[in-house]
Amino acid sequence: MKLTVIGTGYLGAVHAACMAEIGHEVLGVDIDEAKTAALAAGRTPFYEPGLQELLTRGTASGRLRFTTSLREAGRFGGLHFLCVGTPQRPDGLGADLRHVDAAVDGLAPHLIPGALIVGKSTVPVGTAERLTARLRAAGAPEAHLAWNPEFLREGHAVMDTLRPDRLVFGTGSRLAENVLREVYAPLIRSGVPYVATDTATAELVKMAANSFLATKISFINAMAEVCDAAGADVTVLAHAVGYDHRIGRSFLNAGLGFGGGCLPKDIRAFRARAAELGVGPAVAFLAEIDEINLRQRRRTVELATRLAGGELTGRRIAVLGAAFKPESDDVRDSPALAVAARLHREGAVVRVHDPQAVDNARAACPQLDYAARVDKACEGADVVLHLTDWAEYRALDPDALTPLVCRPVLLDARNSLDPDVWTRAGWRYAALGRLGAP
Ligand code: NAD
Repeated sequence: MKLTVIGTGYLGAVHAACMAEIGHEVLGVDIDEAKTAALAAGRTPFYEPGLQELLTRGTASGRLRFTTSLREAGRFGGLHFLCVGTPQRPDGLGADLRHVDAAVDGLAPHLIPGALIVGKSTVPVGTAERLTARLRAAGAPEAHLAWNPEFLREGHAVMDTLRPDRLVFGTGSRLAENVLREVYAPLIRSGVPYVATDTATAELVKMAANSFLATKISFINAMAEVCDAAGADVTVLAHAVGYDHRIGRSFLNAGLGFGGGCLPKDIRAFRARAAELGVGPAVAFLAEIDEINLRQRRRTVELATRLAGGELTGRRIAVLGAAFKPESDDVRDSPALAVAARLHREGAVVRVHDPQAVDNARAACPQLDYAARVDKACEGADVVLHLTDWAEYRALDPDALTPLVCRPVLLDARNSLDPDVWTRAGWRYAALGRLGAP
């Protein structure tokens, strides 16, 4: 099939490359000329495991091309996936739908009759219906809209796209559902289940899924706070609770909490939309989920301050991790970078390492120092903070770092390093929700 992918960021670039991989002829469209040029040359503009191979294969085969022209996109064919960003509004909690509206407005005059636009971006419920009216007003009365929310995780995006847990098709017609079944036929044939529903339910599925995941993380972080007060161990608690298959072990890793370009803004946008619909109280608990999450950043700064001797001015802090999660270079609303920036504001000398995200981190927080290697970040440190759970950090040898630091003190804010290994090597090991707060 011939299809376009409008917006080729973390979601769209992966979607475009995966659609070409399963045999479609794909045109990726973005207003960012540098990003489009990189993708057209077969280079990933960001770090995502496995994407480079697909991009190389797709562009070499001629099945995957990129452009900045919505006119070219409209003429390319009758199927368009919408993958533009939906960040938090600068003036409130709701989603900023300017990019979605601009893409639809820009595409409308060039659509061929009967074209189908399939939204993948995460949007407030009711957006597809609103955009349908917008298309009509823009003179594209024969165009249709569907919503096919995306659940991929950065760092696993290629596998999540090719082998998703499920597909959700929110359509207003049997015709649109059939088009989506045809697009994803290779996945469906390999056993991926799909749920066919209306657009409103499809939009809400994504909001509900992200709200549940955020709730699970904040739940275990709330337990970590109680564990700290009671002298209990949240990692053992999570292990024991997670054996219950009604609960499950995943997303119960206590620590610095969630960030990135999705969960935080999605739970806020959900609250804002629910309030517009007159059901604000139904999801009011998400305000508490957000607050628990942000509190972990403050707790980490407080703990780091105590470990530094109660005073941050002039203290040297090594920060391991800048990306919002491992296997990604994305620093949008990164808890690690937020903590690093806060420590710097309070007078600490902060040096940050990350295996992939240093360029993005430097652009977002130019006031911090950056190191290309872990040992360089740790030189002379009074405290070492482990803030993003990269496998590289789990493999660190504390004995090798001991001679480099000023004081062997580690705060493992991701609860994923081995306390025995670090304490045996003579380090003071501290963590959130474990071994009691120092
Ligand atoms: P992103 O910022 O990385 O990418 C958005 C892209 O859209 C950018 O490259 C931007 O230049 C482009 N764009 C903006 N306006 C445009 C226009 N008018 N025409 C063409 N291109 C335009 O964002 P992202 O992380 O890829 O997220 C996109 C959407 O997908 C969001 O709604 C997000 O919530 C959702 N989502 C993201 C993920 C994820 O892990 N990143 C997962 C699931 C869903």
